[in-house]
Amino acid sequence: VTVLVTGANGFLGAATVLELLARGYRVKGVVRSQHKADAFLQQYPQYATNLKFAIIPSFTDEKALLAVTLDVDYIIHTASPFSLSFEDNVKDCLEPAVEGARVIMRVAAQRPAIRHVVITSSNAAVSDPTKGLAPGVVFTEDDWNPTSWEEAVASPDPGYVYCASKLFAERAAWDFIRDKKPHFSITTFCPPWIFGPPMQPIESMSKLNESVAYVWDMLSSGADAIPPTVFPLMIDVRDLANLQVDALTNPKAKNQRYLAAGDSAWNDDIVYAFKEAYPEYASRAAKGAYQKPGLHYEQDCSKAERDFEIEWTPLRKTIVDMAGVLLANEKEL
Ligand code: NDP
Repeated sequence: VTVLVTGANGFLGAATVLELLARGYRVKGVVRSQHKADAFLQQYPQYATNLKFAIIPSFTDEKALLAVTLDVDYIIHTASPFSLSFEDNVKDCLEPAVEGARVIMRVAAQRPAIRHVVITSSNAAVSDPTKGLAPGVVFTEDDWNPTSWEEAVASPDPGYVYCASKLFAERAAWDFIRDKKPHFSITTFCPPWIFGPPMQPIESMSKLNESVAYVWDMLSSGADAIPPTVFPLMIDVRDLANLQVDALTNPKAKNQRYLAAGDSAWNDDIVYAFKEAYPEYASRAAKGAYQKPGLHYEQDCSKAERDFEIEWTPLRKTIVDMAGVLLANEKEL
């Protein structure tokens, strides 16, 4: 059984690829350059037999994607532009995200062997980015970020635009299911921050993916203050990789959307979990006395808990394991 994973070299993509391989699936990873494929296989030579790569420089290239899906049974689509430093809202963020999702749906529709597609969406597609921590609000799978396309195109705030890109990409996938009624089903996951040990090849500590960089900065920058918490929830990357792989064959997950938050993610808790576990490195972390978590929105994740056998990894373990891998990487690089 072969699973095509887009963004295979990314933080979540790599964790998902490794979970699939550990469970005996064959994996075809889609990456943008040969260099990324080589770096992955160099780090994980034990998987050279079951892990192949397709090099597709633009993931909106439908022809190229179609050409590599003949022997594919499932798709997990994790690739999406996740950067907060881009120039053109439409060309660099909105269009690739949305077209990327549309192309995946169109390709799957042309391949009768493909049974199910899992799409990594985001809490960004769920919550209203203008409402901040919104104490007292409990989000469910019925909630959608209310941003309009016009607002996203005109916004000067890359974070806001990124959130909208996830909204429109997920919507495009559901619209396809509604309008075309294809032979395959989909599952979308809407995770908040994804933290945990990075398993992808890391070129340098200054080129980490956004969410890992966010934590690493708090643990290593020696900043004078712990930054205020903006996104107060998280899921461990290993939990999400597990869910995405489970969803391929879980009949309950057919055409379902899931919130998936394992724990809250208050920045002071992140920094202090690190300082306690690694006292020898504590002086490098952001400074400041511990402030108790404030009130913030929650997500009702009971649907995922009901449909999957999931035990969420608590923030403390996520951060301790994450920091262990990051400190080891730093020594090697
Ligand atoms: P990464 O940046 O580590 O991975 C993103 C992947 O997508 C990379 O493989 C990247 O390729 C690929 N990609 C980005 N833009 C393009 C493009 N224009 N064309 C082709 N491929 C592209 O991020 P994460 O692993 O954190 O993110 C994975 C998914 O999870 C994304 O869909 C993201 O929106 C979602 N998500 C992430 C959260 C987080 O906290 N990390 C939170 C919620 C959702 P390359 O390496 O070549 O740039």
